[in-house]
Amino acid sequence: MTRVTVEVTHPTRWATVRRIVAVEPGGYCHGPVPVYVQGRRVRFIDCGRRLPRDEQCPACRLVVTVVQSAPTSEPAAPAAIGSASRRS
Ligand SMILES: [Zn+2]
Repeated sequence: MTRVTVEVTHPTRWATVRRIVAVEPGGYCHGPVPVYVQGRRVRFIDCGRRLPRDEQCPACRLVVTVVQSAPTSEPAAPAAIGSASRRS
C-alpha cells in the first residue's frame, strides 16, 4: 500500500497550498495485468496503472493522508503611499 501524506496550508484566506510531504512506496505489484495489442499479449504492467482502485492489489493501492497545518497569520495590508491631492 503506497501511502502519500499531503499537507494543506492556507497562507491567505483565498489561497490553498497542497504539498506532498512524504511518499511511502508499497512495493512490487502482486497481480500484474497483461497488455494486449491486436490480440497479442505484449507485456505485463502493474495493476495500479490499469485497474480501478477496488480491484488493485494491496501494494498498488494508494492511500492519501491529508494533514492540516495551523493557520498562518495574514500579512498586514500595505500602507497607503502618499496622497493623491491635485492642486493646479
Ligand atoms: Zn498491483
